[in-house]
Amino acid sequence: MESIISFHDKKFNTKRTNLFLKSTGCVNGGNCIFCEYWKNSDTYSECIDFNKHVIDQIPNNKGIIEIAPSASIFELPQENINYFFITLSMMQYELFVTECHWYYRNLVSNFKNYFDFIPTRMKIGIETFNNTLRAKLGKNFIITVSEFLKYNDSATMLVGVVHQTINDVLEDIKICSENLAYSEFTLIDTNNKDLIDQNVYDWFIEEGRFIADQHPNIKVWLDVKEYATDKKGEVDETL
Ligand code: SF4
Repeated sequence: MESIISFHDKKFNTKRTNLFLKSTGCVNGGNCIFCEYWKNSDTYSECIDFNKHVIDQIPNNKGIIEIAPSASIFELPQENINYFFITLSMMQYELFVTECHWYYRNLVSNFKNYFDFIPTRMKIGIETFNNTLRAKLGKNFIITVSEFLKYNDSATMLVGVVHQTINDVLEDIKICSENLAYSEFTLIDTNNKDLIDQNVYDWFIEEGRFIADQHPNIKVWLDVKEYATDKKGEVDETL
């Protein structure tokens, strides 16, 4: 996968540039059963060099810019954050998006304030508001909606994973649409069939994604390579 991709975000009708940067590790030790992104983590010095090279390629677009770290944004070298800050401050982007683990919830507010020249959205990867399901996925923390909202207003949710039911997804769509400022529902991305609930996966492609997408504060990702699609297989990378 490329380390930087720009495309037209159909949901929000704007340009979107996503950077895939390396973190130095994962606070959960790579124990989430559905995740392989953390494997792209690297040593501190390798991360600094790799991430700087990617940041140097950011096009001077408007619209949304996102850092998708291999783990949490707080696990990027501070040198990279500082360099990104300076680079972005000289550009015209209108929204900065990134993500982190719930573990870093106390850092979210200061991080947003640090990027004082651009609205900043932090997505916390909670995967579901069903605590029992989340524990089965290897992401074992307990939250309620009200507890979550004390720290942040945006989340990423997972769809199609083993142990999950259609009702779980519908309940998460309801909770997110009614309580959060923004959430993303992402179809599981794995070649391991044992990690997929095929019934939920197929339902989401055929029906569930339209239920989620009707909410203005929910964005659906079907596949990590299909950022701009509203239908599988049609990638719109038009700048
Ligand atoms: S989802 Fe996040 S916390 Fe879980 S293994 Fe992946 S990078 Fe680590």
